[in-house]
Amino acid sequence: MIKSYDKKNWNTFTDIRNDAVAVTDKMLKKIDTRLAEYNAQDVRFDISFATEILLLISQEIDKHNKHLENTYKFNLLPPYRAMVVTHVQPFITDCFVHLNDKYNKKHSPKGQMEEYKGTVWTLFQNVVDSKTENVIASNFFRKAICKAVTEHLDELLPIIVQEHIMMLFAHEQYSLMKTIMIDLAEEEDFYNFAVFINDPSEYTRIWMNQYIINEIFDQGEENCTTYGRLAQSQIKKILKQLSKCFSEASRICRNSEMNDISSWIQSFIQHSREINTIPFSNEDFVHVQNRHVDDLDSYTEIIIVDLEDIENDIVQPYRDTDQYTVQWKENPISGIMEKLWGCTEKCMFCAEPCRHTGKTHIEEDIPHQCIQHRPQGIGGFHWEDTKYLVTEFCNFWVQTQQRYRWGETEKKEYRYYREYKKHFPDWDIVPSSDTSKYWMWVMSKYPNELKERYCVEEPNLPATWKLITKQEAIDSLSFV
Ligand SMILES: [Zn+2]
Ligand SMILES: [Zn+2]
Repeated sequence: MIKSYDKKNWNTFTDIRNDAVAVTDKMLKKIDTRLAEYNAQDVRFDISFATEILLLISQEIDKHNKHLENTYKFNLLPPYRAMVVTHVQPFITDCFVHLNDKYNKKHSPKGQMEEYKGTVWTLFQNVVDSKTENVIASNFFRKAICKAVTEHLDELLPIIVQEHIMMLFAHEQYSLMKTIMIDLAEEEDFYNFAVFINDPSEYTRIWMNQYIINEIFDQGEENCTTYGRLAQSQIKKILKQLSKCFSEASRICRNSEMNDISSWIQSFIQHSREINTIPFSNEDFVHVQNRHVDDLDSYTEIIIVDLEDIENDIVQPYRDTDQYTVQWKENPISGIMEKLWGCTEKCMFCAEPCRHTGKTHIEEDIPHQCIQHRPQGIGGFHWEDTKYLVTEFCNFWVQTQQRYRWGETEKKEYRYYREYKKHFPDWDIVPSSDTSKYWMWVMSKYPNELKERYCVEEPNLPATWKLITKQEAIDSLSFV
């Protein structure tokens, strides 16, 4: 009994052309996902963005040519890479030029000038309305606070959202994977299963993008998004601290008989730094410091009375933000994937992802491990003579005398499963008779689809597998 990961015979030219279109399509979709993630950020173009896209193309081509995860009988040569790069270059350039323009518009001197126009306008209005210097100064102070809190919050929100999402999955990769697998079972769409089996971390990234949109930007019954609520609770917390700083600045000025607004601002900045709220600078209050406030108490009073309005001014833009208008300082998806998914390796025998969330676990001498394994046919393993997809599990084979055939080229060699560490020293497969009802259900539900996908023969399914219901498959995920 010898198994091998054999390729199908030569296709006709039309088949190859269709296959090449499918391979290219998959690659372009991946690039699209990355560009959409960049576009939702408020960042300046960085050369590393373009490098990441080019690297992604090279990695996909290398992966394809190794044929470990596909049965295509053709290699993608350098002219193909050049063609893809030439094809995507104008789109990438457009996307990054747009990203940069958007950033410059917001942050350039001209953009800042637009904001300054707002300041002049406020002053003009105040003068026309014959408001007192106290009111004018407090208006400017209010604007400065709104701007600084907003900037601070923009930095914080990606981290807050990341933490919120991680909490929903109890900071566990398996909890996330379980949710995705239940989703897959409920949808009953083999195409999605196939993508998840082939590239679980990329499938998860796309799934997670959609999950964030639903979880963070859904209006819900309260007519407020989670994004708006998270921002509001943070703003409340910050303003509560700042309110203490207002009072403290007034107290210090009163006690030391300093009656000028400059001293008040200095005390305010110093105290806000001491209690670690927002690291304000003098620059932030340049328009306030120029005013001639004659009564600091009434000035502070106006600010404190206005606090609720200040909160509303800051909160409203966050309440109005949706999935289309959000501009992350850093898209939280990368942090979520890094911390919640981590290692992107998968079992070489059954395609189950490594369970470790630390990307560097190998450097820490912790081998790749799976929380469970799958019937090997799920990943394409089949018997060499009959071409039936294999129904046994890798954790079972590693305690037997069973051999498999392995090789990236036509020249394959026979190896013992129990000696897997010789060739895959970074892996640890615990010998056991454990099975996975979930994947047994998948295999007995899609024997024909799996057969076509790997161009082999249907698995010889044990009779009991066909009795497993979808609910039993889903329930089994809770006992892993
Ligand atoms: Zn395995
Ligand atoms: Zn790993």
